[in-house]
Amino acid sequence: MREGINLLGSASPVMVSATALECWEDMKKSESVVITAHRSPDGDAVGAALGLHHHLKEMGIATSVVLPDRFPSFLDWIPGTDGICFYDENAEKATQLMHHADVIWCLDFNGLDRVGKMENDLRDSPAKKWVVDHHQLPDDFADRLLSDSSCGSTCELLVDLIVGWGQADALSDDAMACLYVGIMTDTGSFRFPSVTAHTHAVLAHFLSRGLDHARIHQNTFDEQSLNRVQLQGFAMSERLHLHNEFGLAVVGLGCNDLERFHYKSGDTEGLVNKVLGLAGVRVAIMAREAELGLIKLSLRSVGDFSVRDLAASEFDGGGHKNAAGGVVRGMTLLEFNDFVSKSLPKWFET
Ligand code: 5GP
Ligand code: MN
Repeated sequence: MREGINLLGSASPVMVSATALECWEDMKKSESVVITAHRSPDGDAVGAALGLHHHLKEMGIATSVVLPDRFPSFLDWIPGTDGICFYDENAEKATQLMHHADVIWCLDFNGLDRVGKMENDLRDSPAKKWVVDHHQLPDDFADRLLSDSSCGSTCELLVDLIVGWGQADALSDDAMACLYVGIMTDTGSFRFPSVTAHTHAVLAHFLSRGLDHARIHQNTFDEQSLNRVQLQGFAMSERLHLHNEFGLAVVGLGCNDLERFHYKSGDTEGLVNKVLGLAGVRVAIMAREAELGLIKLSLRSVGDFSVRDLAASEFDGGGHKNAAGGVVRGMTLLEFNDFVSKSLPKWFET
C-alpha cells in the first residue's frame, strides 16, 4: 500500500475508503480534534502524538493530546509534553475532550484494550476514530485506518500521510523532532530489520530541512540518572538467569531492587536489549515487579522465534514478532523464574 510513496508525494497512502487528500479535507472541516496513543506510551507513541499535534498546528488546526498515563522521564525534553492531558491524572478533562471531539486520532495501537483504564471512555466517545498503527491485525474499531505492520514505527507512517497531504516541506522543527524520536526509538536507533531505504529517505528529508539529530540522540540517551545506570548494572550482574541450552535469558527486578535504586518510570528501558545483546541469547525477557502479584514483561528476540506469540499465549500480551510485552499475575519473581524454567521445553519444542 505504501510502496509507491516517496518524499515527492507522488502517491497517497490509503485510509479505509478514503485517500489521504479526502482525509485532509475532513480534517479541515473538523472543529475539535483529539490525538491519543497507547498506555505506558513509548517514544513512538509520544513522538507520533506530539509530531501530529505540532504539524496540524502549523497547518492551522488546533488539537488536544490525551494520553492514558505518563511516559518515561527520558522523553521529558520532547517539545510540547507540558500540554498533554493524562487520563490517569485528570480523567474528567480527558473524557470531556474525547466526548466533544469530531475526530480522535488513535496512534500506535491496534486495539482499544491498549489504552488501559481509558478504554471505555474512548470507545464511548461519538468521535470518529482514525487509526495510524504498525501492529499486526488491528481490531475493528477504526473509522479510518492506515496500518502497515512491516513499517518500523507509527511515526514513519505518519510522515507518509503528511507526504500524501502534500505537506512534507511544511514540517516544522518541532514536528520533525517528535517524529524522529519515534522512528529512532522503535528501530533501536535505525538498526532493526524493519528499517528500509524509505526510513532513511524520511530521515534524509528531516536532515535536509535542518533537523538537529545529534541533539535528539543526546537528549534521549545521554542524560541518564546515576540511579538508572546503577539499577541496570545491578540487574545484569545480580539478577540475570541464563538458560544457555535454549538461548534464552531472563532478567528480573523485584520491588525491593527498584526501591533501592529509586526507580522512576523508564529506568529499565533498554535493559532487555542489553540482555539480548549477550552472545548466544536469542530470546530475552525483562521482568519488573510493578506491585506484589503483578509483573510486567518486556520480551525481545532475534530471528524466527515470535515473542508476540509467546506473550499472547502465556502473558496476556502482544506486540511484534521480535518485540512484545505482557503481564504475569499472582506470581512472585521467584515463582516466575521457576515457571520459565519449567516451560522452556514446551516453548521451544519444534
Ligand atoms: P515494550 O517491551 O517496549 O514495553 O513493548 C514492546 C512492544 O510490545 C511494543 O510494540 C508494545 O506496543 C507491545 N506491548 C507491550 N506491552 C503490551 C501488552 O500488554 N499488550 C500488547 N498487546 N502489546 C504490548
Ligand atoms: Mn510503535
